[in-house]
Amino acid sequence: MIDRSQLPPISEILSALGARVQRRRASGICHGSDTPGVISYDDRRGIYYCHRCGHGGDVIDLVRRTRDLDYRGACQWLGIAPGRPAAPDPEALRRRRIREGLRAWARRTAKELSYEHYVRERVIAAAERRLRRDAQDEWAWRWLAWAYVGLDALEHKLDLLSGTEANQVEAYTHMRGAAA
Ligand SMILES: [Zn+2]
Repeated sequence: MIDRSQLPPISEILSALGARVQRRRASGICHGSDTPGVISYDDRRGIYYCHRCGHGGDVIDLVRRTRDLDYRGACQWLGIAPGRPAAPDPEALRRRRIREGLRAWARRTAKELSYEHYVRERVIAAAERRLRRDAQDEWAWRWLAWAYVGLDALEHKLDLLSGTEANQVEAYTHMRGAAA
């Protein structure tokens, strides 16, 4: 077992790993996001949390995560266990980066599409109110036509984005293919 009192401050290790560290906030590591303050940390408790990918833990978890090491390797990297850590497996690192990139993309895209969905629902509700007063209301029919075009495709994408990894890959392929 390691002596936890030997663990260095989390801010020190965030800096050593190349993160930009401000007061209880950091960025530039973990899943590679440069979003300022995407990581929160607390030196007193010795823990961190990444708001983008939801990963967190102590300084050993941080090193495991960012250097792609196992527990023992992370302790060695930190100098609290004898020996030198094995070099990270670049292929495993690459695959993990791709998975994390996909998850982050799915979350971001779902947020954007949810907003678009919300706007369309509001337009439909407004059109329905006008049509209840006047079934011939030309503007209401135009709004409905706008809001309904592609609504089922939008809902399908939202389903995929909140689904399995395979679903997210499908959404990504579909949407990036359509954008290209
Ligand atoms: Zn992260």
